[in-house]
Amino acid sequence: MSETLLLIENIGAVRRISLNRPEARNAQSRQLLDEFDCAVGDAAHDDSVRVVIVAGVGDHFSAGHDLKEAQASRANFTVEERWEYESLRYFDYCLRLWDMPKPTIAQVQGACVAAGFMVANMCDLVVCSEDAFFSDPVGQTLAAAATEVLVHPWVMGLRRAKEMLFTGDKMLAEEALRIGMVNRVVPRADLEQETLAMAQRIAQAPPFGLRLIKKSLNRTLDIQGYRSALSAHFDTHQLSHMSEEFKAVRDRGLAGAIQRNKAGDSA
Ligand code: ZN
Repeated sequence: MSETLLLIENIGAVRRISLNRPEARNAQSRQLLDEFDCAVGDAAHDDSVRVVIVAGVGDHFSAGHDLKEAQASRANFTVEERWEYESLRYFDYCLRLWDMPKPTIAQVQGACVAAGFMVANMCDLVVCSEDAFFSDPVGQTLAAAATEVLVHPWVMGLRRAKEMLFTGDKMLAEEALRIGMVNRVVPRADLEQETLAMAQRIAQAPPFGLRLIKKSLNRTLDIQGYRSALSAHFDTHQLSHMSEEFKAVRDRGLAGAIQRNKAGDSA
C-alpha cells in the first residue's frame, strides 16, 4: 500500500478529511478517490464523529480528476470499462458523500474546478476563502458533457449553470456568496478556523435530529427529481466520451488540452 493521499484529523466531534496532494493541486487519482470513499464511510459509522469537514491541503481545494493518470491508464477504455470506472468512482462515491447521515462542510480555497466542484457540492454547506473560484471547463476543453455529476443547476440556478458550462469561465467567491452557492466567504487566513467554528457549532446539536433534518432537506430535492436528473446526466456524459469531438481531444492529450486552455481540469 502506497502512502495515503488524505490527511484525516479529529478535532473534538469534528472529523476533517483533507485531500493531500498539494503538489498536484489535489487532483483526484484513483487511489485518492478510493481512500476518500473509505474515509467518508468510516466517518459515517464512527459515533464519535458528529460533523465532517472536507478540505484540501495547500493552495487549492481540488483541480479535478487526475488527467495525467486518466491519459496513461484509461484513454482507450471501452464503453463498458469507462461505465464501470466512472459509475463507481465518480458517481456513486459522490452520492455516498451526499447521502452521508451527518452534516458535511466543504472548506474551499483556490481552485474548485470540475470534479473538485462536483465533490464540494456534495457537501451540505460550503465555506470558502476570498481567493476561491469555481468552474467546470470540461465542455470547452475536453468536449465532455460537463462533469459526471451535474449538480450545477441545483446549486446556482439554471441560467447561471448554462453560462458556467457554455463558457467554461470561473465564478469568483464573491458571486458565489451573492447567489447563495456558498454559505460564507472569509479571508484565506481565517478559512480553517471559521469552518471549524461552524462545524463545532453544528456538532452541539442532537445528532439524530440533525440526521432527520438532512434527510428531509435532501428528500426535498429528490422529490423535485434531483437524483433522477443526476442519473440521467451520467448516461449522457458517458455518450460524450465516445464522440468524435472527445476522441480528437484525447488523441492530442487530455492534460495538454487543459493546459492549452489554462483552465483547470477533468472529465
Ligand atoms: Zn467522464
